[in-house]
Amino acid sequence: MTLNRVLRPNLSRATRLTRYGRTLSTFTDGERYWKDTPWKDVPTEEFNSYRWQLRHTVVGKEKLQRFLGEALPDTVGASKDPLLQGILRREDFIDDAVAAFKLAPMAIRLTPHILSRVDWRNPLDDPIRKQFIPLASAIIPDNENATLDSLHEEADSPVPGLVHRYPGRALFLATSICPVYCRFCTRSYAVGEKTETVDKRPQKPSRKRWEVVFQYIESHPELQDIVVSGGDAYYLQPEDLREIGERLLGMDNIQRIRFASKGLAVAPGRIQKGDPWTETLIHLSKQGRDQGKQVCLHTHINHTREITWVTKNAANYLFKHGVIVRNQSVLLKGVNNSYKELSNLIKTLSAINIQPYYVYQCDMVQGVEDLRTPMKEIIELDKHIRGTLSGFMMPSFVVDLPGGGGKRLVSTYEPDSTDLEAGVYRYRAPGLDGEKGEMLYTYFDPKPVKEAELSMLRQQKAEALRSGQTLEQIQATFFNPSHRNSATEVPLEAISQDAGLMQNTHAAESAQESGRKHVDSHTSIGARFSNEWLNDDEVNHNQLAASH
Ligand code: SF4
Repeated sequence: MTLNRVLRPNLSRATRLTRYGRTLSTFTDGERYWKDTPWKDVPTEEFNSYRWQLRHTVVGKEKLQRFLGEALPDTVGASKDPLLQGILRREDFIDDAVAAFKLAPMAIRLTPHILSRVDWRNPLDDPIRKQFIPLASAIIPDNENATLDSLHEEADSPVPGLVHRYPGRALFLATSICPVYCRFCTRSYAVGEKTETVDKRPQKPSRKRWEVVFQYIESHPELQDIVVSGGDAYYLQPEDLREIGERLLGMDNIQRIRFASKGLAVAPGRIQKGDPWTETLIHLSKQGRDQGKQVCLHTHINHTREITWVTKNAANYLFKHGVIVRNQSVLLKGVNNSYKELSNLIKTLSAINIQPYYVYQCDMVQGVEDLRTPMKEIIELDKHIRGTLSGFMMPSFVVDLPGGGGKRLVSTYEPDSTDLEAGVYRYRAPGLDGEKGEMLYTYFDPKPVKEAELSMLRQQKAEALRSGQTLEQIQATFFNPSHRNSATEVPLEAISQDAGLMQNTHAAESAQESGRKHVDSHTSIGARFSNEWLNDDEVNHNQLAASH
């Protein structure tokens, strides 16, 4: 099947419109979309209150484990992913997730709103689950060029927490905390609590640090545009939001301020009349307009299912009060990398007055190789979606260049130095000053999965975790050339053709069909992962017990 057909099924215009209409109809006002979660009896007003969302946010792996125990049914829907087909029961899922938490670069923090958007009967292939809850069986080796700071933000920071890469604009990292932690965070080196494999280098919200940042911005008259991010501006206290906004608006050189927050996607009930954070944002937007400056909100929604009637009301409240809201999505495998889903997302965002601004190629960060897509997919999606929408609704499809070259349109790669066959794309960023403007920047596609490497990766990670190594050290060991030579290349598709696995997969499928009683889950690739990590878990429990 050609890429074209995979990305854009041959839908007639009428069918596409009907499907679009169906997507929008999920906005039914008042629908209790949390009715299939442990919070099913919580009244609407309470569920939507930000205070309630904060109080019930699931923080840390133990709490998530408890939540999963309550939310998952006895048996879970089958996955189309060969690596996940050994996960059949609630216990399999929880064991696999617990094993993955040990390796994940990002900590766990999830709001009830986002957890309620997962279809817990079919969590394996669920686009929301994939973004936030890792599964060990899905982990595949990182590209050897993946790092925790793939955009080299720290190298481009003249003072702590300020990335100054472009001549006229800069990124102010005001905090390192977010209402949820995304698995694929581009700032995995700094955001969230430290994990078992990653020691973070956080940018804590501190007036002393902010003052150094303000002074740098003031002393660089070429800076006109500031993104206030982190972390997430939702986690700034309203008085801090106001202080940052007014301080920046007070600088003659600053013309535009963008507050970056995933709040609309993960706790939209906060955006309403009377909420201090919301009213502060509206106040800053109005103050900016009075001064002839722009203050807007940039949000991050990746899938239509993240949008509910509460999101619609929140977005419309901001629209009514003149706040410009733009969205930046990340293209993720199994989440939104199809014509149908991405098109729906863009149209749905436009329908609630959020401007679809960017679709990003997923950064080359560690630990999320299962979510990355080849560059040709995003280029094809750009080609096929363009022309189906009004120009102002059409987002820019961009890659943020590894090494700090900034954002480039995905289709503007250098043809002479790009190897399409090998999936190695090279770009230039001539708008950047000095050496950076002359460099070539390289993006590597995810490679086909190699079965022998998967097995080696499992062994090395288990071993490394026991000895307390970091993710970077594990990565360095894994990509030692002497190890790579011994690996046999097996494309992912071929793994499911493996006779033994097929047999086991069929056994699992027929067991599922016959009421899913008991299946020896140690017989599939997925379950072999879980089993190994489980043994590792026991070791750590024992170590913990011994140390107390
Ligand atoms: S909300 Fe943004 S900064 Fe926070 S974890 Fe997700 S991607 Fe990273």
